[in-house]
Amino acid sequence: MTLRVGLIGTGTIGRDHIRRLTHVLSGVEIVGVTDIDQARAAAAAPAGAEVFATPTALISSEKVQAVIICSWGPAHEEQLLACIAAGKPVFCEKPLVTSEAAALRVMEAEVSFGSRLVQVGFMRRFDSDYRRLKAIIDCGELGAPLLFHSVHRNASVPEGLYTSEMPLNDTLVHDADISRWLLGDEIGGVEVRLPKQSRRGGDLRDPVVVLLHMVSGALVNVEISVNIAYGYDIRGEVSCESGTASLPLRPATIIRDIHGVRQAVPADWRERFSDAYDQEFREWIFAAGQGTATGPSTWDGYAATLVADAALWAVKNRSLERVNMRDRPAIYAPERDQLTQTSMKSAS
Ligand code: NAP
Repeated sequence: MTLRVGLIGTGTIGRDHIRRLTHVLSGVEIVGVTDIDQARAAAAAPAGAEVFATPTALISSEKVQAVIICSWGPAHEEQLLACIAAGKPVFCEKPLVTSEAAALRVMEAEVSFGSRLVQVGFMRRFDSDYRRLKAIIDCGELGAPLLFHSVHRNASVPEGLYTSEMPLNDTLVHDADISRWLLGDEIGGVEVRLPKQSRRGGDLRDPVVVLLHMVSGALVNVEISVNIAYGYDIRGEVSCESGTASLPLRPATIIRDIHGVRQAVPADWRERFSDAYDQEFREWIFAAGQGTATGPSTWDGYAATLVADAALWAVKNRSLERVNMRDRPAIYAPERDQLTQTSMKSAS
């Protein structure tokens, strides 16, 4: 059975997802696209796909079985609520939404629907290096995890469009989510340190260092550098009671020349996480075909939103800000997700 998908937002990542769903993955067809800029949507539409005038028209179309949201964060809430009201599975790029109140509205709508429909685009959970790292932590041979060092470096960000809040309310969500997932823990508090500012970004506050206080007492330190020139460099190392485990350096061709010996660094997230995005969508297509969702949930998007808000307050108040999550609704219980993952494995 082919899953008939409508995609909202044909910008940078929307077009990359259209490419992978059209040319890389199977079992899926993009039957409709939409964007504020209709000409951009028409240029990105695969052969045979309809260009819808609005997200509402796309979501309500009978042609569209499941939806992918790649618009910008502030538009996500309205589009997610429309998908849930229509009972359609939806993949939403991060961030889920941009405020705690919006996250709660989406969660309440999904809980009222009665089962999961939303998967959030935290693609690191689908990366084979992160999955191996998690398996090592989970098997317990190194003892309990105590510290996680997470490094998130971008070569550059769009000048004028990327503001000093964005390392905390746009970029940090990936590190927050992967920390909760890797350590199997919740984030209870957030501190932020602002070291000497890079001269490369003008007024942009860069880099930033974030300290996540996990509920178990473990600590996560995150370096976010968004203008570091040399490439997109994602690193992670977990210190446990009797050993450490880290992400490997990605294999890359070794170049020897007059400058010495060197290996290329990925240019951006598309290159570094290409395989992870493919796997993320393989799992989404399977679950959406069954009318449900697995993987990163509205609950995880809500947690990341709270951490981002707390980080912004931590800068303003120069304090450790507490993160107070609500009780987790039953539809987001990890066991439920595992059940669906198991049925997926036995079916594939
Ligand atoms: P982008 O290039 O600006 O693309 C967003 C597109 O959506 C633009 O064409 C935009 O039109 C359109 N749009 C905005 N609001 C809309 C609405 N209400 N209805 C229909 N179309 C709308 O941004 P991007 O880099 O692709 O990012 C899109 C989303 O993906 C963001 O949430 C971002 O955080 C996320 N993202 C995730 C990753 C990841 O690693 N998972 C990586 C990159 C981006 P206008 O330009 O005219 O506003």
